[in-house]
Amino acid sequence: MRVAVLSDIHANLRALEAILAQAGAVDALWHLGDVVGYGPDPDAVVARLDALGAVGVRGNHDLAATGDEVIRDFNADARAAMEWTRRTIAPATLAWLAALPERRTVDGFSLVHGSPRDPTWEYILTEEVAAANIALLSTQLGFFGHTHLPIAYLQAAGSPGASGMATLEPGPGSSLVLDDRWGLLNPGSVGQPRDGDPRASAVILDLAARTVTWLRAEYDIAATQRAMQAARLPARGISRLSAGF
Ligand code: ZN
Repeated sequence: MRVAVLSDIHANLRALEAILAQAGAVDALWHLGDVVGYGPDPDAVVARLDALGAVGVRGNHDLAATGDEVIRDFNADARAAMEWTRRTIAPATLAWLAALPERRTVDGFSLVHGSPRDPTWEYILTEEVAAANIALLSTQLGFFGHTHLPIAYLQAAGSPGASGMATLEPGPGSSLVLDDRWGLLNPGSVGQPRDGDPRASAVILDLAARTVTWLRAEYDIAATQRAMQAARLPARGISRLSAGF
């Protein structure tokens, strides 16, 4: 069984289509939240995921899109894009986003947006934070997003603190064989990468082979940027797509 694991699509339909094409035939689609926010296609992205039967969790942008007051904590650009998203999205999109749980377990894997400790907000950016969260996992492995950075943190079960942590910053095509270690894996961001590579990022999880493979897919960034300009979305969110940062 091949599973495509996607995160932080951020209403970027062209990036989503490109990574789906790169992924090829899959048996399931899991997403890690921030389906909307920043990008110009919230309705189309949600409709596509819904049609594909994607299962996933809510991100902080998805929560804000449902009208939650968390929008007050967003920076100016994220807030402006979110206000546009709120004004624009169809009732069916809003209902789909509102129904997302903050965490779920699928086929023995934990799915969260931020972290097991704080599924909506915490950023896992250090081995110490990763270790504290691996210790809280109820499954051997979990997927997270939110940082928009492809990475894997792996550790022997029961290791104290961050001792023995192996951190992998996977390049495109990198594969990881899942062994008996515990860990947290980030597929990177489909719609707004921030690791300096502007291509859409995701992973393929092969449950039979016990491997995870990171993918990158080129897409028509300029077309997404034109759509964002037409919607008068914030300039920084538009320009950063070209840099992947
Ligand atoms: Zn995000």
